[in-house]
Amino acid sequence: MTLDTKANNRIKRLEKAFNLVTQNKVTITGENTAIVESETDKAKIYQVIFGESTVSCMLDSEPCYDWMYNLKYADKCKHILASEIKAGLIVGVIPKQ
Ligand SMILES: [Zn+2]
Repeated sequence: MTLDTKANNRIKRLEKAFNLVTQNKVTITGENTAIVESETDKAKIYQVIFGESTVSCMLDSEPCYDWMYNLKYADKCKHILASEIKAGLIVGVIPKQ
């Protein structure tokens, strides 16, 4: 995977993350914790720890699939990004009109 591809994927993930926020799927539960409801399945609740250094995204005590297999923990999944947007840690993200 080239750096360009990775950057493009991150932009798509940011868009998906922003959609989660605008659909009210993200609830901040603490200083750096949040729960994120799945877009498609209300029963799926992701437990997110976000912030600068230590992040995690868990679903039923297992790491979120995207974060574990696609991103290999090296980047943030849309649930972590959505939590950071909701908490105001990512600024300058503007919704597509
Ligand atoms: Zn996730």
